[in-house]
Amino acid sequence: MKPISVMKPVRRLARPVLPLAESIFGSIKSVSTTDPVIALTFDDGPSPEHLPAILDVLDRHRARATFFLIAHRARSHPDLAREIAARGHEVGLHGLDHLPLRLLTSREVRRRVWQGRRELERILDSPVTLFRPPFGGQSLRTYLITRSAGMQVVGWTAMAGDWLELPIDEIAAKGVDALDPGGILVLHDYVEVDVRNPAPPPSFDRAAMVDQVLTRLAERGLRAESVSGLMAGRVVRRTLWFWDGD
Ligand SMILES: [Zn+2]
Repeated sequence: MKPISVMKPVRRLARPVLPLAESIFGSIKSVSTTDPVIALTFDDGPSPEHLPAILDVLDRHRARATFFLIAHRARSHPDLAREIAARGHEVGLHGLDHLPLRLLTSREVRRRVWQGRRELERILDSPVTLFRPPFGGQSLRTYLITRSAGMQVVGWTAMAGDWLELPIDEIAAKGVDALDPGGILVLHDYVEVDVRNPAPPPSFDRAAMVDQVLTRLAERGLRAESVSGLMAGRVVRRTLWFWDGD
């Protein structure tokens, strides 16, 4: 017997209000464009081990990126955080530390988002308005707290899996081949080791990995921008992004 689907009519009923819900509660996922451009993003830094060489690689490829920094790490390496901005890249917040927000009380989420933002702004002496939650995980509750702190939430369209010990050409292929114009790619200039990710960080050369990613992007005719650079003058696609995180 054919099962009765209740989801279909519910989805049909929800369809007219979905764009409205996405415009109010949506996180940035990509932009609508046929221009050959994507946004390159780096999470979990700043990393004194890898960031200086990565910035040189970005310069060589004339690429721009957004670095979602952990505020505690930026506090330990303020010159590196300032160097990112001085080299023409964008800084966003990835958290005060790397704890998943949905496990914290609302009061604690609010404190961390506000304090993280304030710390980065004090170091950079400029506004920070983009936020990517640790692990990309959020609930409606943490989303609303983030928005009330004046931050926009940025998700992604492709991940390269660069927290795994893999050959760098495989990482570059996985990330770049999943992108279309207007997409957002996640890389890491540092890999945070914690309870969710207890393995030691991969040993490959991160700057060489970024070089391969940018070379492969160029082969596809795509150039890398920051998230704000990608969004400027284009229609931003938002999505209801509520999950525990990768
Ligand atoms: Zn992260």
